[in-house]
Amino acid sequence: MAKRILITGAAGFLGSHLCERFIKEGFEVIGMDNFITGDAKNIAHLAPHPNFTFIKHDVTQYIIVDGPLDYILHFASPASPIDYLKIPIQTLKVGSLGTHNLLGLAKAKKARILIASTSEVYGDPLVHPQNESYYGNVNTIGPRGVYDEAKRFQESITMAYHRFHGLETRIVRIFNTYGPRMRLNDGRVIPAFMGQALRGEDITVFGDGSQTRSFCYVDDQVEGIFRLLFSDYAYPVNIGNPHEITIRDFAEEIIKLTGTDQKIVYKPLPIDDPMQRQPDISLAKELLDWEPKVGRTEGMKITYDYFKSLSEEELHRSEHKDFTEHIKK
Ligand code: NAD
Ligand code: UDP
Repeated sequence: MAKRILITGAAGFLGSHLCERFIKEGFEVIGMDNFITGDAKNIAHLAPHPNFTFIKHDVTQYIIVDGPLDYILHFASPASPIDYLKIPIQTLKVGSLGTHNLLGLAKAKKARILIASTSEVYGDPLVHPQNESYYGNVNTIGPRGVYDEAKRFQESITMAYHRFHGLETRIVRIFNTYGPRMRLNDGRVIPAFMGQALRGEDITVFGDGSQTRSFCYVDDQVEGIFRLLFSDYAYPVNIGNPHEITIRDFAEEIIKLTGTDQKIVYKPLPIDDPMQRQPDISLAKELLDWEPKVGRTEGMKITYDYFKSLSEEELHRSEHKDFTEHIKK
């Protein structure tokens, strides 16, 4: 009998890649999503597969899944600053009420559950690179607090279920991950810069561009999550690519990659935008024998080819173009 796995956020970027991977591994996959930031198109190719079923449902409401479940991956949550600033209450609810419902479901089904946490639990970090023992520097009441604190609560309630109910839990702290099926207009820096290149617009760098990020290709992320799920480690593990770059240098790289002669224009830095971010992945290396394999040049090329393949209509949908409009002090 194939093992059964429930994947929430299935119609999103990471969720759709996870559904694909687990189907490939012979699992019976049940995808769940309410499409608030996802798109049915991301999983349309999986629909005919006999081992894939889909339930349209908001996980903040009581969840019913018939039959046994061996595993749950909780990936439902808005994930881009633009999305969680636009739907702050839903973001808080999916991290808190949604996670509570899924932990309850895991307990009832005696399933192992892995939850998607984030490098945002470190806030604007004062420790660099960030390792799992760092407690973070988060502004609870700032605009990003709705996401950061929802994720921190999510980790706490997951550990409480582990300690109090003996539930088998796993926590992945995901650092900026990219690849095909990101939403072109979700405001995250990679779709933003690539969309601008394709539309022939200036590249918008926020602040002076000296802030850093470290970008992980989606296949590497999925491999790390896969290994963590089957490990016996219940505490948080960073999964990301430690290769760090400033946003200004990254903008130059995108101009080179896309072969366009765009100008860089500077816009105000959003409130609480972390100034540096780089995962310390020593724990993942030691525990999971995992490290990223796909370099930025290769990963960005695959991602750009994906965005190039989108229709004109998708390319020109202009919703969310100016991130800074949403974050006025
Ligand atoms: P995404 O927006 O593409 O996917 C999230 C999915 O969750 C969407 O399909 C959305 O419709 C669904 N969803 C949201 N609220 C829901 C609800 N109440 N009920 C059911 N479905 C709901 O984002 P993503 O980049 O794929 O992120 C997936 C997960 O990974 C999130 O939990 C996010 O916090 C985490 N994460 C992602 C990154 C990254 O770089 N991509 C980094 C850190 C953490
Ligand atoms: N950023 C930028 N221009 C854009 C979009 C984002 O300079 O058009 C910057 C943003 O201010 C941040 C970094 O790129 O410093 C990464 O932003 P993203 O929204 O991708 O994710 P974050 O890591 O901040 O959650």
